[in-house]
Amino acid sequence: MTDKFPIILWLRQNLRLSDNAALTWAAGRGPVIPLYILDESGDPWAPGGASKWWLNETLADLAESFKKLGAPLILRRGKPEKILRELAKETDAKTITWQRIYEPFHCKQDGKLANDLEEAGFEIQIHPGFLLFEPEPIKTGGGTPFKVYTPFSKACFAAPAPGKTLPAPKKLESISGIKSDNLKDWKLVPRSAVWPKGLADAWTPGEAAAHDRLKDFLSEILAHYKTGRDRPDKDYTSRLSPYLHFGNISPRQVWHAVQFALAKTPSLGNNAERYLLELLWREFSWHLLFHIPDLPTEPLNKSFAKFPWKHDVKSLKAWQQGMTGYPIVDAGMRQLWHTGWMHNRVRMIVASFLIKDLLIDWREGAAWFWDTLVDADLGNNTASWQWVAGCGADASPYFRIFNPTLQGEKFDPNGDYVREWVPELARLDAAIIHSPWKAPTANLAKAGVVLGKTYPHPIVDHGKARERALEALKQTKSAAPQATETNDLFD
Ligand code: FAD
Repeated sequence: MTDKFPIILWLRQNLRLSDNAALTWAAGRGPVIPLYILDESGDPWAPGGASKWWLNETLADLAESFKKLGAPLILRRGKPEKILRELAKETDAKTITWQRIYEPFHCKQDGKLANDLEEAGFEIQIHPGFLLFEPEPIKTGGGTPFKVYTPFSKACFAAPAPGKTLPAPKKLESISGIKSDNLKDWKLVPRSAVWPKGLADAWTPGEAAAHDRLKDFLSEILAHYKTGRDRPDKDYTSRLSPYLHFGNISPRQVWHAVQFALAKTPSLGNNAERYLLELLWREFSWHLLFHIPDLPTEPLNKSFAKFPWKHDVKSLKAWQQGMTGYPIVDAGMRQLWHTGWMHNRVRMIVASFLIKDLLIDWREGAAWFWDTLVDADLGNNTASWQWVAGCGADASPYFRIFNPTLQGEKFDPNGDYVREWVPELARLDAAIIHSPWKAPTANLAKAGVVLGKTYPHPIVDHGKARERALEALKQTKSAAPQATETNDLFD
């Protein structure tokens, strides 16, 4: 026992007080020094622009919460090992505790760090991180990692249920006078005048806001989730993804809250089940990344390494700026730019468009998402992009190419989503809003639309682009998806 010595609580991606295993562990043992390090050890997947904004807001929120508990949050920047050793020396701490991060870079760094610090005489306590199930024990009958979602999800349901959630401590013992950086000096908020405002209008990061959103979701939205989740024009998903990524809320808290709501209101049945299955897609993505560390850069189906991607800067830019001439694609890309988030159905449509209609490498799309999403998450982003490209685990076959017009008509039937994000088309009727290039000139004129002037002509003809994509696939010998199963989760 090290009761008299302070314990360094190194906070990373579980930025909350409740259901925080490392915090609970530390709180019972002595004075706690909560520490956040702006990691400068060369993480190739350091947070992108929108994520930095979320991180800034979350740290400000967390600092307030720790202050109320009596233990100020300490901010330092640099290489974790150096910072941890310096802080331990300053405070006479002998114990350091943290939660796992399952990204390949951190897995490698943490293993070495823990060894070095233990050799230097520190007690190191590492707790499970941000998943419902640790990635190691979930295995196929043959003892290998899963590459297909449905058996993975069944194995999760068969595994011991996620443990009970932990309450936040009411008070912390601490020590005073420890130097901390000033959050503002980290300049995490993007310099663009437009971006931070758009993000701030759309979101309230932090632990209390996460629980408020969960509460609203359970009481008002969950009952519509199963069918509603595919409608970008409605608010029928939980929008918890950034909160889950930064650990403003734990997946365990969400999991148990949904189970509780279901027990109280059995009619939520299919909707609640569907929601839990989506949480398991998150688990599956992380399971893949943990076991296949080069997933962010290499196609899982190696025959895609030979795919003839096009280097087409102009089209990539049109896609990024929401100026492709396909209204549902442009609406999604603009929603992303303005709010740091995009509806899942539309993420699939825009990703398919980039990869298959424009033949641009999925890694270009993943990189843009990485910089602009507030929920940019290495597991989910990587697995999802590979899924759409058809080169990932349990992937959508490459030959399945979304038709952006039909997708728009089906999932945004009144055109409201397009009207919100592509205001220059707002006065078009629902019947033509997803294909303005087919509209009679008189209708366009009445709605104030001049193609090529107020809104672009389509940058590719989808029918021809589809043929071209299938031809490219043929060149990629045996580029058939590896999975034996497709599923309807993304239909
Ligand atoms: P809900 O429908 O309410 O789902 C609840 C939670 O389940 C989500 O918050 C998320 O944690 C998880 N989830 C839902 N769908 C998926 C999925 N398909 N894969 C993995 N987890 C899922 N999600 C991210 O969190 N970060 C990303 O960087 C990311 N990039 C994506 C890129 C592409 C090309 C695609 C097609 C999907 C991506 N997703 C990503 C998955 C999904 O689009 C988002 O998780 C979802 O839209 C978040 O909104 P929500 O919280 O309202 O979802």
